Amino acid sequence: MDTLLEIKDLKKYFPTPKGLLHAVDGISFQVERGETLGIVGESGCGKSTLGRVCLHLLDSTGGQIIFEGKDVTQVSKHELHELRRDMQMIFQDPYSSLNPRMNVSSIIGEPLLIHKMCSSKEEFAKRVKETMDVVGLAPRTAYLYPHELDGGRRQRIGIARAIIMDPKLIVCDEPVSALDVSIQAQILNLLQELQRERKLTYMFVTHNLSVVKHISNNIAVLYLGTMAEKASSQDLFANPLHPYTKALLSAIPIAKAGAKRERIILKGEITSPINVEDRCRFAPRCLYATELCASQNPVLEEVMPNHFVACHHVREINNLK
Ligand code: SF4
Repeated sequence: MDTLLEIKDLKKYFPTPKGLLHAVDGISFQVERGETLGIVGESGCGKSTLGRVCLHLLDSTGGQIIFEGKDVTQVSKHELHELRRDMQMIFQDPYSSLNPRMNVSSIIGEPLLIHKMCSSKEEFAKRVKETMDVVGLAPRTAYLYPHELDGGRRQRIGIARAIIMDPKLIVCDEPVSALDVSIQAQILNLLQELQRERKLTYMFVTHNLSVVKHISNNIAVLYLGTMAEKASSQDLFANPLHPYTKALLSAIPIAKAGAKRERIILKGEITSPINVEDRCRFAPRCLYATELCASQNPVLEEVMPNHFVACHHVREINNLK
């Protein structure tokens, strides 16, 4: 194992007029070099905040972010600036994340200027041209502006900007959810090709489990700022153990003709993430909730090899020993 990123008990709270909003509340995981960790959950579960805090784009409230052995929360501003080269992000909405006043070439090459990576205009132009070629952007688009391009090509600009520094880790925050289905497949294929060629490590944040199924080595399912379940992609789809993961998976249509899966409809109110109490946050929506669930937050435990679940009753629910 060669761990690139290790997150330990990470917390991010936001002050609100009603109290502290627990967006990320004690999450721990590791991402191995060259692998993809899918981070999945409903809107508001804290997955995008988690991605931003892992890159230290947002300050954490507590915990550690260890990247190649260094705790990112403890490094100096200068060290953080250096680390930024290795840790990049691809955003959900390519249009709003690209400066509309800059042309494609300037947007893609901007990180080279910020990090003083080119000694001449010629070198800058060469690096930008090479990167555009890698992501499939035609040279004639170099002097166009974002509004002159379609969504797929705008997302290719975002990817080019992220890879031009030759990073080690990229957090992809819903990178295909704003795109048409046919374009989604092209962008996912491009991300996979880049990963193979450049040994990139991805954290792939999405609300859509089926998007991450084929590209993730491991998947973590988040629920209201906490991790409900984490397993290999194969295990999670074949044998979901947490009641919330089972419900999420039941909503995915099966492609096989005649195959059916019973849909689990979640009822009950979503717990407020503000001033959370010590109880399972999924309890108001869970079919199996007991008094214990209402009085104690379950901790994440390894119930099968490399299969972690936070649920007091995971063994009874799944007939495990
Ligand atoms: Fe459901 Fe209780 Fe498990 Fe939470 S701890 S998921 S409420 S059974």
